[in-house]
Amino acid sequence: MKLILLGPPGAGKGTQAKRIEEALNIVQLSTGDMLRDEVASGSETGKKAKDLMESGNLVPDDMIIGMISSRIDRDDCKNGFILDGFPRTGPQAKALDELFAEKGMTLRYVIEIVADDEAMVERITGRYTCDECGSGYHDKFQQPKVDGVCDKCGSTAFSRRADDNAETVRARLKAYHEQTEPISSYYSEKGILRKVDGMAGINDVTAEINDIVRS
Ligand code: ADP
Ligand code: ADP
Ligand code: ZN
Repeated sequence: MKLILLGPPGAGKGTQAKRIEEALNIVQLSTGDMLRDEVASGSETGKKAKDLMESGNLVPDDMIIGMISSRIDRDDCKNGFILDGFPRTGPQAKALDELFAEKGMTLRYVIEIVADDEAMVERITGRYTCDECGSGYHDKFQQPKVDGVCDKCGSTAFSRRADDNAETVRARLKAYHEQTEPISSYYSEKGILRKVDGMAGINDVTAEINDIVRS
């Protein structure tokens, strides 16, 4: 099954993608994670992306489309994948359609996690991630069972993203409304858009998504 998760920064795309990944045995493809790996490795792509990401702006479409095109050809995508953070612009959505047509793939659902801007600032500024396994946590909304220890892998090392500050969140929300939100109607016209309430609790959002993907 091939899915897209759409939604503003902080809506819960990464959190839900990891759960769907396990439930459906498909892989999460996060363009944000891929770009952060490029930045960390100091590659040419990473050098071009770094400042744009830190200021909360989108990176160029062609950079992202090339990354996704080669990624979905890999073996671990055979059983399906969930796109988290891609597409984010009209041209990316059209390019994805072309890629799927070339590769004989079908997009099953686009799940839009709908959430309020104001709540997203608190979500983003409280977010942190396990360095070892990438599990996501929140200072208030998703604490590990044992303070300072990852539930999944037991690691005690965590990180916060350079772009997860209140100022950058505003820029990212602006980019979302101007460039990403319009693609929701593009998928609605195709009849594959499903909306879920991202202001609900994490488990309730998972339950809503499960209902959709199992229908
Ligand atoms: P996105 O990938 O859409 O930017 P994340 O999944 O990283 O969002 O979630 C942002 C932060 O909010 C994380 O710290 C996560 O633990 C927390 N979070 C995710 N979903 C919810 C929710 N439904 N209610 C409260 N907090 C949430
Ligand atoms: P969020 O948790 O805010 O949804 P992501 O991790 O998905 O953030 O993305 C972080 C940053 O990486 C974005 O602000 C943007 O600079 C860049 N980025 C990620 N995916 C894309 C994309 N599909 N198109 C353009 N830029 C992207
Ligand atoms: Zn961990």
